[in-house]
Formats: sequence, C-alpha cells, structure tokens
Amino acid sequence: MKLTHPLKNEGVITSTYKWRGNHFHPGIDIAAGMGTQIVAVASGIVVQAKQGCNVGQAYCNKGLGNYCVIDHKNGYYTAYAHLTDLHTKEGQKVRGGDVIGTEGSTGYSTGSHLHFELRTDLNLVQKPGSLDPYPYLYEGKELPISKNNYLFEIVATILVVGLIAVIYKRGVFTKIKSKIIGQ
Ligand SMILES: [Zn+2]
Repeated sequence: MKLTHPLKNEGVITSTYKWRGNHFHPGIDIAAGMGTQIVAVASGIVVQAKQGCNVGQAYCNKGLGNYCVIDHKNGYYTAYAHLTDLHTKEGQKVRGGDVIGTEGSTGYSTGSHLHFELRTDLNLVQKPGSLDPYPYLYEGKELPISKNNYLFEIVATILVVGLIAVIYKRGVFTKIKSKIIGQ
C-alpha cells in the first residue's frame, strides 16, 4: 500500500520523528499555509474525528487540537493533528487523496503545521506503537496490505456464532435465567 503525501507533496518538514530533549516526537511536522488541504494518505475508515479547538487553546484535545485518525485496516493507523477544520466524521470511509481537513495551528502549536503520525495503535503522541513516517511519505516505502482481512472477519464470525450455539445447546442460558428468576 503506497501512501499519498498528506499535503500532496507541499509544505516543509519542520520536525522529524526523533527525541526532542526528554520528549519523543512520534511523528513528522509539515508546515504549510493555514487552510492548505490535508488528504488521507490511503484508504480506510475514520475512527476518530475530534473538533472544537481554537488557535491558542494549547491543551485542547490533549494538545492535538482538531484531529482525526484513519484506520487503514491493515494494522496501521494515520493521525492528522492541529487542523483548522475537519471534513470528515467518525465512521466515514475515505480513499487515499480524499480531503479530510485543512491545515491549521490548533492545540499545542506555535505555527501552521500538520502533525502526522503513522501507528500500529491508537495511543497518539506515545513512542511505542509509532513508526517513522518519513520513508513512507518521501521514499516510496510501502505499507503491507492485509489481504486476509475479510476472510479473518468471516472466520471470526463463524467461531462466535458457533460458540453461542454451543453455549445455548448446553443450557447455560436456561440455568442463568432460572437463577435470576429464582427457581
Ligand atoms: Zn508534531
């Protein structure tokens, strides 16, 4: 899965994935003009879309300001922070290149920039679970595609249904029911 640049190759990197003193910066900062369109780097589902922050409210949404997170359904997530506006809602499906918001300076930010994270979990701003996005955005490195996602979901559903059927057959529900009723 090749990633689209979140600013369509515009902007200037102002901070990389590295330690800054005793604090780890688990993403990449890309400065561009206020209002520059931000696009999804690949297809997925918006799993977080947080708004309500104005410029100057440093601790709004834990410092991330207005932000969203996309689940790419292959074990990877991308996060886009400090936005002016979001153009997405939670649960929305997006494709790579779709506009998801506009660049801004909300949250803990001193100038218009995008804070971008590539992660294997949703613990934003934490080092564990984060990856350096640089090779994926600037060197053409590709994320693995999980081809077995649908198959996995089907198998998992069958197992759950099967388990419920077994429990039902063994009369567990009846026992619980009679306990509640007091018989
Ligand atoms: Zn940052």
